Amino acid sequence: MSRQPLPPLRVAVIGAGIAGSSCAASLRQAGLAVTVFDKSRGVGGRMATRRVDGVVIDGQPQALDFDHGAQHIPARHPRFKGALRRAAAAGVVAAWSPRVHAAWPAPTRRETWVPLAGMPALARHMLGDAPLQLQCEVQRLQRSAAGWELQAADGSIHGPFDQVLLAMPPAQAAALLAGQHDRWAEHLAGVPMQACWTLMAATQEVDWPWDACEPEAARSPLAWVARNDRKPGRQAPAGVATWVAHATPEWTAQHLEDSPAAVQAALSQALGALLPRGVKLQWHHRAVHRWRYALPAEAAPAAGSECWWDAQRGLGVCGDFLGRGGQGGVEAAWRSGDELADTLLAALDDETEPARPVQAANDARRSPAPAGGQPLVMKRGVALAHAA
Ligand SMILES: Cc1cc2nc3c(=O)[nH]c(=O)nc-3n(C[C@H](O)[C@H](O)[C@H](O)COP(=O)(O)OP(=O)(O)OC[C@H]3O[C@@H](n4cnc5c(N)ncnc54)[C@H](O)[C@@H]3O)c2cc1C
Repeated sequence: MSRQPLPPLRVAVIGAGIAGSSCAASLRQAGLAVTVFDKSRGVGGRMATRRVDGVVIDGQPQALDFDHGAQHIPARHPRFKGALRRAAAAGVVAAWSPRVHAAWPAPTRRETWVPLAGMPALARHMLGDAPLQLQCEVQRLQRSAAGWELQAADGSIHGPFDQVLLAMPPAQAAALLAGQHDRWAEHLAGVPMQACWTLMAATQEVDWPWDACEPEAARSPLAWVARNDRKPGRQAPAGVATWVAHATPEWTAQHLEDSPAAVQAALSQALGALLPRGVKLQWHHRAVHRWRYALPAEAAPAAGSECWWDAQRGLGVCGDFLGRGGQGGVEAAWRSGDELADTLLAALDDETEPARPVQAANDARRSPAPAGGQPLVMKRGVALAHAA
């Protein structure tokens, strides 16, 4: 008697930053039914580009773009390098070797990568045509016999799902996990993140020999200044320079609750102080953005691995704060998401046994196996399925 193929495992990935996108991409490739949720209007998370329309410069309305979050993507791990090379072959990212004026070491050129059509382009590329629920802030996770249901801020309910994977900064993941996985929630609530005030500005063209600058910490409240219009794929109207300047974590911490106007004035002055003597900036546009969770201050205490997965509950966590070294960054986020997908697939996928409970395949090194939960049934490849 022939059996109906089981429906694919239903997975919700909450967070369409680089961690969620890399995780979703790998799971979809393996045939799982993945739906991605994000509270923002677009994907990419902290890999963000802001477009400002209608800035009047010399009497003409102009559109300006600012990469106001992550600036570029350094890559070390061969697997991540491979992913970037494939993205480059598809025309999504390009190599960038900016002339960086750094306090230490001496002025240098760096080898790094930049998505061409704005920073979110890499996440967009990885997600492809994945089902995506944008402007959907998940506020509550609820488990029933049918699986996980997600309750959004507008009251809508999504699901059921067999697995829910959280790909967001630790404080936000902690809020969702409270009452569902208290040990993880407690752990995540204690992960310190650094904040960052960012200035986005357009001025007259300035004769500045650098693409970016890392000022000496003692001499400037700024940690990084970049000519946004000199990055690959970017441009500005003729005669206009666009700038992105990130404050240091220390300066941001001291001024976290200052008014945007006060922060804008202080960071504008700091930017001016880095330019050649005598240059007086004419401001065509200025704005600031506060990143409350910019980068991990240190590794998640006793994180133990690049992702967390609890097979019995069908819950996972990934994000830059779980990356090796604890310094965060796009590579750490990508690797954490990729590792979570691998962990989940490895436990589900067993070539030697035709079907087995996931519980037995749980990798104790990564997943502390708490009691309870619904055993899942595994089949090879596309037929990964939940128990009938
Ligand atoms: C100012 C700044 C500069 C940086 N510069 C660099 C750099 O030059 N190079 C580098 O490698 N890294 C840099 N980083 C760090 C890098 O951007 C991050 O490490 C990386 O992008 C984090 O990816 P992620 O997927 O872990 O998290 P995120 O990008 O934060 O993605 C999380 C996503 O989850 C969504 N979300 C959160 N809660 C919910 C919810 N309840 N429901 C639905 N959606 C939700 C958010 O909207 C977001 O899209 C910088 C970061 C900042 C802020």
